Amino acid sequence: MIGLFGGTFDPVHHGHLRVALDVLQHLNLAQLRLLPLAAAVHRRQPIASPEQRMAMLRTAIRDEPLLIADDRELTRGGPSYTLDTLRSFRDELGATAPLCLLVGADAFDGFPDWHRPVDILDLVHLIVMQRPGAPTARDAWLRDQVEHRRTDDPAALRGRAGGHIYFHTVTQLDISATRIRRLLAQGRSPRYLLPDAVLAMARDNRCYAVPQAPA
Ligand code: ATP
Repeated sequence: MIGLFGGTFDPVHHGHLRVALDVLQHLNLAQLRLLPLAAAVHRRQPIASPEQRMAMLRTAIRDEPLLIADDRELTRGGPSYTLDTLRSFRDELGATAPLCLLVGADAFDGFPDWHRPVDILDLVHLIVMQRPGAPTARDAWLRDQVEHRRTDDPAALRGRAGGHIYFHTVTQLDISATRIRRLLAQGRSPRYLLPDAVLAMARDNRCYAVPQAPA
């Protein structure tokens, strides 16, 4: 079973990396693909270039063979609709291979606004990386989806191609790329929030040297 984890990765940091490993190990995934988006659909655009974000990601995971950087959204260009990405995986892997899409709890909250969320749910299992405590969904439609699709059994995920929602409590690291970019723009150090090698690349290339607008 393969996992997919999309994000801006602007830059990739220990929050992303730790939860990726948490889920990889918990679900015993054969591999986990990390997919930097080209152009965001629902948020402001990345600051670093696609090449820089991809290079930082590759560097961050170079010693972890089951974490794989996947550049298909960058190569495709334009707005990165998750559905297009999932269809490209289905073309590659076939209709029956179980596929898991990892989303953070914050991203899951906004899931009803994604492009064609029902089609997404029909194509993959959604793995929600949450904080300790009961899963909640503010949106009534999403609560209903959870009620009908939820499983707590990893074996159920392996038993079908997609369609389930699974909650997994991951390591809580209060790290965001926004904070890292801000610290760099202020000339302060974000060290220990991200791998040293990624920080060195961000500094060398002056990816985030310009002060950012408030998030
Ligand atoms: P930004 O601060 O620019 O919004 P970010 O740090 O939230 O960026 P993204 O690349 O936008 O990072 O996140 C990609 C995915 O990783 C999202 O699903 C998000 O919920 C999740 N994520 C980001 N940071 C963390 C973290 N510290 N712990 C767990 N999940 C995270």
